[in-house]
Amino acid sequence: MVSLGQPDRMYMNTDLTAGLAPITETPTEIAAYLEELNTGALIMSIVHMTGDASILEQVHGPRTLDVVAAGSASGEELLEGGYTRDEVAFVRARALDAIAQWQARGCELPPVSGATITDLYRYMCGGAVEDDYLEFIDEEIALDGIDRRAPRMNDPEIRSRAGEFPVLIIGAGMGGVLAGIRLGQAGIPYTIVEKNPGVGGTWYENRYPGCRVDVPGHSYSYSFAPNHDWSCHFPLADEIRAYFDECASRYRVTSHIRFSTEVVAARFDDASSRWLVEVTDGDGNRETLEARAVISAVGQLNRPKMPAIDGLEQFRGTLVHSGAWPHGLDLAGQRVAVIGAGASAFQIIPELAETAAELTVLQRSPAWMFPNPGYHAPVGAGQKWALEKLPLYSKWYRFWLFYTSVEGVYEQTLADPDWDNPLSVSPANDAMREALTAWIDSQVQDPALREQVLPTYPPFGKRILQDNGTYLAALQRDNVDVVTNAIERVTERGVVTSDGQLHEVDAIVCATGFHADRFLFPMTIVGRDGIELNEQWSDTNGRAYLGITVPNFPNLFCIYGPNTNLVVAGSIAHNAESQVNYILRCIELLLERGYKTLECRQDVHDAYNRRVDEVNAATAWGSPLVNNWYKNQQGRVTANLPFRIIDYWKMTRQPDPDDYVFD
Ligand code: NAP
Repeated sequence: MVSLGQPDRMYMNTDLTAGLAPITETPTEIAAYLEELNTGALIMSIVHMTGDASILEQVHGPRTLDVVAAGSASGEELLEGGYTRDEVAFVRARALDAIAQWQARGCELPPVSGATITDLYRYMCGGAVEDDYLEFIDEEIALDGIDRRAPRMNDPEIRSRAGEFPVLIIGAGMGGVLAGIRLGQAGIPYTIVEKNPGVGGTWYENRYPGCRVDVPGHSYSYSFAPNHDWSCHFPLADEIRAYFDECASRYRVTSHIRFSTEVVAARFDDASSRWLVEVTDGDGNRETLEARAVISAVGQLNRPKMPAIDGLEQFRGTLVHSGAWPHGLDLAGQRVAVIGAGASAFQIIPELAETAAELTVLQRSPAWMFPNPGYHAPVGAGQKWALEKLPLYSKWYRFWLFYTSVEGVYEQTLADPDWDNPLSVSPANDAMREALTAWIDSQVQDPALREQVLPTYPPFGKRILQDNGTYLAALQRDNVDVVTNAIERVTERGVVTSDGQLHEVDAIVCATGFHADRFLFPMTIVGRDGIELNEQWSDTNGRAYLGITVPNFPNLFCIYGPNTNLVVAGSIAHNAESQVNYILRCIELLLERGYKTLECRQDVHDAYNRRVDEVNAATAWGSPLVNNWYKNQQGRVTANLPFRIIDYWKMTRQPDPDDYVFD
């Protein structure tokens, strides 16, 4: 039996109820709210409120259910966390009692020992977990509210040196704002140069109809700045933009941002060991800014890629790219063609189908999709109530989202060298293919359409999309036509396909992706001895050590750089925090040792990249069976991190000085 009540160094002095709003609802109202809650997180809250862990022996811990296991073998319906309806009812009844007891005790929480917290983590992870895994989770969740990744440059000498180490950050999206927050906390002066007039990066730019994030909002936020107020579980772009904008203002980053200003070039000056960064504003005024270090936070997906199709420029109607949707553009009542069937098209098509007179979907490859009935669902009042008021519920809910995404389906992405099937890369990947095929089959009766929309490449070869059925329903509307014949050319009036047909339209939407393999494009970055980054990378072959540092480019750091994109198994917000932690610790090393620059060793960089390439090549997305934006023109995967997120977290906790040359 797990025991509570042994005070412990780590948690005894922390007020775990800090920030909670008081519960003022009646038991009947509370009972109704409990209906919406995540069962695992609710069990944890019960333990915290009562100080009694006996429930852990009465109900099993939550289980991650993948789409394969979702239809349980016994035929019994399993709810989120793998619980039966009876188990959920039992937990809710216990929660109602626990809340009443806790209120009767004046809302005091019994102290919780560190050992108990460990037991709770183990319970929530489903059993044995390694110690470093516990640390990894504890850092992300921070039950005690202590931001473990905050920089701690407390030595007055180092703090004074920090004040003379100006840093320039390129981009005010998720990564750039985070870097600003951390540099500010460390007392390091910084300027963020942002090409847009506002904060948010990709969430500022992508405003096409239906644009929303496809990971849960409650985990798509900084670990130290949770948002309990998302209106949807998978929030719309504008809400996410507003979140980052609010964080920038709350952490006093906004005043450091130069908006509507673009970095044209950054040159390392060997004589002064400083970066000279040339910027231009919207009016063409140029200026050179100086910095001791440059952090690129430009993202991988921010330069829209128009398709190379003959005659596109001759089209007389409206021509837009999904990533540069003009303000207020409404295509209602028009004949519209959408080119592409990736993540952006998948969200745009159901929206346009509702209002367009005719919609022609020009699909080159179909997408695999995960069944997710809650994809468009609003966050209910009960969930918001619990996030605001129920002790530790919000922490454990984030834990659950984080843990399930981290553990996710990584194994199903790895290729088995002995598996010989063009449709999948391993037996586990094939089981996933069958489950995803069944999801498509459950929605499409027409055999011709089924053949068009059933992917013939392995799952995870391209990004798998979250789906609540709206996409395939849209394709089956009377005003929608799916065309899989290749596009031959565009004329003044529309798109001509390989069967000679002209699809006459008023508007063409190119949902054709981004220049993802051209990192830091189109800036000119010149390092030590006049070496150009573009030449070093031969244009599209971006490589960096840990995706962060590059040989010959002293004090240049990347966030979301080469080989850091996550396909499955992780959270991009967590990865950004790992990268910013690493960058801050590199700067700390410089300040501690009194060096001007650090530069990644070529051999360290090369060895790391060999491992990256080896593992990536043995995944579904690295398979020669697929084309995707993760690969460059030579077929090398330049976008994706091939490792488990915990491994990357370990690699980026602390820089090893031996990996660097200091000047
Ligand atoms: P994408 O995944 O690269 O998809 C581009 C689509 O355009 C593909 O279907 C591609 O076909 C097609 N295409 C490209 N050139 C073409 C041509 N010349 N003729 C015909 N078809 C052409 O781009 P995206 O949809 O913008 O998504 C990019 C990434 O952004 C996603 O993978 C995701 O990471 C992110 N994203 C996320 C969200 C979200 O969180 N919800 C939403 C949107 C985007 P092929 O597949 O045959 O190449």
